[in-house]
Amino acid sequence: MTVVLFTLGGTIAMAGSAEGGVVARLVGADLVAAVPGLADLGHPIDVRDARAVPSADLTYRQILDLVDAASSAVAGGAAGVVVTQGTDTLEETVFLADLLWPHPEPLVFTGAMRNPTLAGADGPANLLAAARVAAAPAARDLGALVVGHDEVHAARWVRKTHSTSTGAFVSPNTGPLGHVVEGEVRMLTRPRRLPPVPGVEADRLDAVRVALHTVTLDEDTDLVTNLFRGRDGVVVAGFGVGHVPPALAPVLGELAERMPVVLTSRTGAGAVLRHTYGAVGSETDLQRRGLVNGGLLDPYKAKVLLRVLLAAGADRAGIAAEFARRG
Ligand code: ASP
Repeated sequence: MTVVLFTLGGTIAMAGSAEGGVVARLVGADLVAAVPGLADLGHPIDVRDARAVPSADLTYRQILDLVDAASSAVAGGAAGVVVTQGTDTLEETVFLADLLWPHPEPLVFTGAMRNPTLAGADGPANLLAAARVAAAPAARDLGALVVGHDEVHAARWVRKTHSTSTGAFVSPNTGPLGHVVEGEVRMLTRPRRLPPVPGVEADRLDAVRVALHTVTLDEDTDLVTNLFRGRDGVVVAGFGVGHVPPALAPVLGELAERMPVVLTSRTGAGAVLRHTYGAVGSETDLQRRGLVNGGLLDPYKAKVLLRVLLAAGADRAGIAAEFARRG
């Protein structure tokens, strides 16, 4: 059985350019050629070059197209799929893919923090580990995964937490699901797989507009009001356990009467609380005003989920139920 490799660009596929700096221009055959161990995987690699862009250039629609192409690959008998892309937006793309991926076969995202011109480039090792995970029976039924630094992370919990470290991908709330040890995929824990979100259609996903705003000290409430105009939904990254300045609470409450407003934490780990603090602008106050509790989902993942749910036509109750289930 083959492992299908889709390439989207990113640092893993970068090489020097005449204009200076590295740009994404290596193709899948180059990436595969840089990993001698792939030949011993026991599964031929079937390369499909999809794009060659920095990951800041990717869109939801392109990830939808990728999921469709990956679906065809597993329907055609592939053991699993590897996607290489830039690491900058990988925590979002992998969760988007996870919300749509209906198959037992692993859909494994990876990239590199050091480009191929640097000493100790991590792309080849990450690609080899990702291919091993894509082919591993132990990694089936876990949805979309991120592999980097010989660790396996769940799409729902993984974060990029460092701008340059080769250990940038961590799951602060859970830790990795598993490791690749001496070439063997060792899964330590298997979270319950949630079903994909049905009825997500590309045009609707394109059209849905969701804003994410991180609350800061002494917030400018006028600015916030203007930021949200014309949106279909909003994610707020609040302080700590889900708090905002008191002046912002009524602004968010009014907004929540018109559109879903999801409350998350800007801290990077831990949950939004539900029933501890009572001040104006606290989590209980904001929930009373109609905000949806984002649970353990970080702001970026919450934004992906909200946009997908709106594109699927979910109503207010449906959105709250999905955040309760996935957050
Ligand atoms: N800027 C690059 C990108 O996301 C970084 C990377 O590939 O890791 O495409």
